[in-house]
Amino acid sequence: MHEVQTAKNILQMACEEAKRQGLQNPRAIRVRVGAWTGIDVDHLKHDFHTVAPTVSLDVETVEPSARCEDCGARFEAKPGSLSCDKCGSRRVTLEQRRDIELISVE
Ligand SMILES: [Zn+2]
Ligand SMILES: [Zn+2]
Repeated sequence: MHEVQTAKNILQMACEEAKRQGLQNPRAIRVRVGAWTGIDVDHLKHDFHTVAPTVSLDVETVEPSARCEDCGARFEAKPGSLSCDKCGSRRVTLEQRRDIELISVE
């Protein structure tokens, strides 16, 4: 699957943010991508380069965080083993995280 649309979305977010900061055009963009979104980071970078060849893109992936309903512990969620690190409870809620988050624009 191509990530062209995602690349365009990132570029648009970055351009809006650049405008807010009074910058001309973004030259370097840093984003954070949820590890569970299914986005292929290498492919995304490749497609981003096609969309915006002069802008460098840095991608960081993060696991979603989870919260235990029983003891309140917060921990990093790992696919396949959704139980509390502290008490072993399975009443765990994934904290909603935006798919792609803009970290910085230069
Ligand atoms: Zn592609
Ligand atoms: Zn717990």
